[in-house]
Amino acid sequence: MTYAHSEAGPGPPDAHLPGTTSGGAPPPAAAWQDRGMAEQRWDTEAERAPAELEQVWSAVVATARRTVTDGLVVGTSGNVSARVADLVLVTPSGVPYDRLTPDDLTCVDLTGRQVRGTLVPTSELPMHLAVYRTTDARAIVHTHAVHATAVSTLVPELPPIHYMTGALGGPVRVAPYATYGTDELAENMLRALTDRSGCLLQNHGTITYGATLDQAYDRTAQLEWMCRLWLTAAGVPGLTPSLLTQAQLTQAAERLRGYGQRK
Ligand SMILES: [Zn+2]
Repeated sequence: MTYAHSEAGPGPPDAHLPGTTSGGAPPPAAAWQDRGMAEQRWDTEAERAPAELEQVWSAVVATARRTVTDGLVVGTSGNVSARVADLVLVTPSGVPYDRLTPDDLTCVDLTGRQVRGTLVPTSELPMHLAVYRTTDARAIVHTHAVHATAVSTLVPELPPIHYMTGALGGPVRVAPYATYGTDELAENMLRALTDRSGCLLQNHGTITYGATLDQAYDRTAQLEWMCRLWLTAAGVPGLTPSLLTQAQLTQAAERLRGYGQRK
């Protein structure tokens, strides 16, 4: 089964590698040759650029720890991943993030086959792989953030209460419930993610992606904040929050695309 998904997603198509400052997505052989590594030979993708994988792994772990310290994740209830070429570095299942070391690098290919590490990858791997196979995502953050999860039990779509809705591609949908770790949940999530860079998972949590780990993380934080905002406003007895129109959201989204420091 395939799903229509906009080629021009919310993230820039030629995004930088997550957690690095090198320019552009990695074209396979040529990039390594440029770095003076042409004489080396690698038998598998996982052996191609160990230094780069280790660098991205430390950024994955740092992002996972940030989800805990910022209150978006309790214990090991979320997971984080980043893509390097056709490999996916992903947090392992059931290991507290503060215990993860460089030796725990966990890496799979786009089919889910483990190519580095001995720890079992996150049980939510099907969701991560589905996003990488169908979008230009370079990084993914999944959490059980409390306000976002609360909203996922109340409505099929987060009402557009704030213009930051535009930063996620439009009103955030709720993917119908399915058991965690299943292909069914991954399929429901992909439908909810159509033309969006984030969605809610009913009675479960959040998932967002981006061109970098920082962008994926920021989208999760914004999503949780908007859910908290809506719950706060909608919870005032006798009053109903005003919502933004499609035209207002479109205008805000256009401005958000140019937001930031101009160089
Ligand atoms: Zn989960």
